[in-house]
Amino acid sequence: MKRKGILVVVSGFSGAGKGTLMKQLVRTYEEYALSVSMTTRAPRPGETDGREYFFVSREEFERKIADGGLIEHASYCGNYYGTPAEYVDKQLAAGRDVILEIEIQGALTIKERFPSALLLFVTPPSIKELRRRLSGRGTETQEVIDARLRRAAEEAEGIEAYDYLVVNDDLDACVGQMHMLIQGAHSAPVRQEAFIDHIRSELEELVKGEN
Ligand code: ADP
Ligand code: 5GP
Repeated sequence: MKRKGILVVVSGFSGAGKGTLMKQLVRTYEEYALSVSMTTRAPRPGETDGREYFFVSREEFERKIADGGLIEHASYCGNYYGTPAEYVDKQLAAGRDVILEIEIQGALTIKERFPSALLLFVTPPSIKELRRRLSGRGTETQEVIDARLRRAAEEAEGIEAYDYLVVNDDLDACVGQMHMLIQGAHSAPVRQEAFIDHIRSELEELVKGEN
């Protein structure tokens, strides 16, 4: 029986290392499909349209919402972010695990719409290290960094909604742990409905045959 893809949500404070982790994860393991979000924020130096994000205007984003083209969307520090539906639907149907790197409001929407989604929350080993990574990345002004740290304090309130907390200290160890958690998640009964239905119908046939 063909294995079904699962939806994996990865959230975490800005600067925790999500982007870095995801790049390494898909480079190391080819079975994962990384969803590319749509956003109204400006590209950072080195970011390419269609690779890190689809960079669009507010008008385009709102049109996409109205057309029902996003499976979730949220507002984060003054910009819109959302997940295009088409890619996710196609990859799941092809049996690939799809990873969404999204913030907490979006994660909660996904959990509501897809109860079998796996939710992972990435943290740095300390907040001192978070500040160091955010400033070290050198892509935001101090004002934006402060807004993102305030947002981190709000997001810390919602961590209990996630299935696992993953500490990003050593990058390779963290990538290995995420891979293990995703692979393990495939065995949960909630993600094996098709297989369970198959076993149940075989058992029913067996019982019928005995009577
Ligand atoms: P996010 O996507 O969560 O906002 P990034 O992936 O952009 O975070 O990472 C923020 C900064 O931290 C980057 O400069 C990145 O190189 C660095 N970083 C990421 N993971 C680690 C790690 N395990 N150890 C040290 N630095 C890291
Ligand atoms: P950044 O501007 O640092 O790339 O992303 C800011 C925040 O938006 C991060 O927490 C990131 O996970 C989140 N984000 C990125 N894409 C999406 C998306 O499609 N939907 C939602 N809800 N959040 C997203």
